[in-house]
Amino acid sequence: MFGQLNARIDMNQAPSKSVYIETFGCQMNKSDSEHMLGLLEEIGYQPTLELKEADLMILNTCAIRGGAEDKVFSYLGAWRRQKDKRPGTLIAVGVCVAQDAGETMLQRAPGVDVVFGTHNLHRLPELILKAKETGRPVVEIFQELPDDLPETPVVRLNSISAWVSIIYGCDYNCTYCIVPYVRGREKSRSMDSVAQEVEELAASGFKEVTLLGQNVTAYGHDLDPKVHLGHLLERLGTMDSIKRVRFITGHPRDLNPEIIDAVAQVPNACEFFHLPIQSGDDRTLRRMARGYKVDFYRKQVEQIRNKIPDAAITTDLIVGFPGETEQEFLNTVSLVEEICFDACNTAAYSPRPHTPSANWDMQVPADLKYERLRFLNSVVTEVSHRRNKRHLGSTMEVLVEGRSERNPERLAGRTRTNKIVNFEGPEALIGQLAQVEIATANAWALRGALK
Ligand code: SF4
Repeated sequence: MFGQLNARIDMNQAPSKSVYIETFGCQMNKSDSEHMLGLLEEIGYQPTLELKEADLMILNTCAIRGGAEDKVFSYLGAWRRQKDKRPGTLIAVGVCVAQDAGETMLQRAPGVDVVFGTHNLHRLPELILKAKETGRPVVEIFQELPDDLPETPVVRLNSISAWVSIIYGCDYNCTYCIVPYVRGREKSRSMDSVAQEVEELAASGFKEVTLLGQNVTAYGHDLDPKVHLGHLLERLGTMDSIKRVRFITGHPRDLNPEIIDAVAQVPNACEFFHLPIQSGDDRTLRRMARGYKVDFYRKQVEQIRNKIPDAAITTDLIVGFPGETEQEFLNTVSLVEEICFDACNTAAYSPRPHTPSANWDMQVPADLKYERLRFLNSVVTEVSHRRNKRHLGSTMEVLVEGRSERNPERLAGRTRTNKIVNFEGPEALIGQLAQVEIATANAWALRGALK
């Protein structure tokens, strides 16, 4: 499985060949890009942040929303013009959109040299070399992950916090979601393999790991013997130099009490739960085939807050799902108020190919979807602000990640509950844990002073 040949980008190194990667979508895709860089380093490619200098341009794509897919083709049009200016440059398109499009990618985006899917990332160097040698486009899509998936090297783009994939794919079939189609069925990595990767990260100085999966709460059900995410958290909890372990993202049905107990008891497990509910209405949830009712979710939240009162809970919400009535939408708005989420990722429903709901005839008109989205966002902002204000006057532990993008005078980092905190302090604190007294809060971040 994915391995640990960690290397840092040295932008001063003069590369013989350079690769530029543009990554769309979720943390899984960002993690995949780090593995692509690791694989390509083995055949002499060094990363570059300058598209114009690149000998190889890779688009790591996301198929979750129609807008993201449109963006892929607009990028490929621009990249083709760039390729015309620099003959010999290669264009590769990979992961979710490529998995779905396969050969048709070549017709839709002339100029593409390599198309690869979600299950054959480890083959990227061979595919690039073949396209170079033959001068002809290469398309390779596997329908599922091979059982003997080899370890792949990785170039980490962050030296403080690392992503570690622990489970691939998803066994659910939510009626709006293309993920099971492009990512396949759930496949967990062994605990030994994950633990070894985290040990190596610790030895390289990383302070935080985020365990990744489309459904991370289902981790281990397919292993022999079966384990669950709580077991993995307990095992990683024995590694003192890893100060924080997070996990994202999970299905509410798979969040068993043992996982919540592990977060409550394991010192380095962070009190942060991203638990997508998608809708606050039972009828809509049934049409989405989410497999739970709102009351079940309420009980999950109650369990978390009973055991870990300060836990942050965030969610994903879709508005304008086919057939969503005004009342069903308002039930979602009420639930945001009731649960008082720390943050919500919201989106207007976007019909995706290969999903049942895309063909239903009760689609909500686009203007109504966006009107609902705007209203929901205003409520989410107000609720997140209210939730963040509860930290005013308290002192929070912040893992300092670097300078604030908005104000480079300040440092920026995250609390265990994943809140962004900005504060003034010395450069030497980057990569360290700092105690910060919170003075102001808005819906998106906190600001404070070093204690
Ligand atoms: S659980 Fe998540 S990834 Fe799986 S089908 Fe549903 S929305 Fe998609």
